[in-house]
Amino acid sequence: MNENTDKIEKKAEKEAPEEQIVHQHVKDYIEDLLPRHQGLFKELEAYAEIHKVPIIQREVAALLKVLVKTANAEKILEIGTAIGYSAMIMAEAMEAEGKIVTLERNEKMVEQAMENIRRGGFENRIQIIPGDALETLHFLPGGYDVIFMDGGKGHYHEMLTLAISLLKPGGLLISDNILYKGMVSSEDLVKRRKRTIVHRMREYLEYITNHQELTTSIIPIGDGVALSYKKKIV
Ligand code: MG
Repeated sequence: MNENTDKIEKKAEKEAPEEQIVHQHVKDYIEDLLPRHQGLFKELEAYAEIHKVPIIQREVAALLKVLVKTANAEKILEIGTAIGYSAMIMAEAMEAEGKIVTLERNEKMVEQAMENIRRGGFENRIQIIPGDALETLHFLPGGYDVIFMDGGKGHYHEMLTLAISLLKPGGLLISDNILYKGMVSSEDLVKRRKRTIVHRMREYLEYITNHQELTTSIIPIGDGVALSYKKKIV
């Protein structure tokens, strides 16, 4: 690649914000339509924006609430806690006795999430397990109604078999960031450093869309969400 193409690439990056997979006007419209969060949720959204913490976007939060409610989820497993925002969004959408187990390996994130969950009054309903999710998945008891896959994007595929086995038949696997800033669907958008992650995500999507135990739908909102229903009878 010569200097000129590099310049053109840089210019293109500036002009087209990489992080969006739908038209800005569509995203703005949906976001304006959705009621704004108040209190702690609003505070965490502002915090995440300033500190570049990748929390779920508001339209994805709305989708999660609907899914958790329609699934009548009593037990949820989340892979990737970050600051606890999505866990609390889901906990609030569940019945009062609903429980969430959430996995996070970044110690600083674990501390922040614990504090946020305590402040939100969810400490009896959301349990954070610190450490590498891939290891933790091996000793979890299973029987989850919903699994929210939102950890390291390069590791979804490795975690899939365990995740499916931990999901109840009739349960729902929700995978976030599957279109990864549009890079997954367009080779032109793939940054060189991200090639491996993008390649693995494509494999993951091919796998879950063709898996005989799953019925999968790909939804282009937020950063891309995949919904995979685990069949009751295969
Ligand atoms: Mg995410």
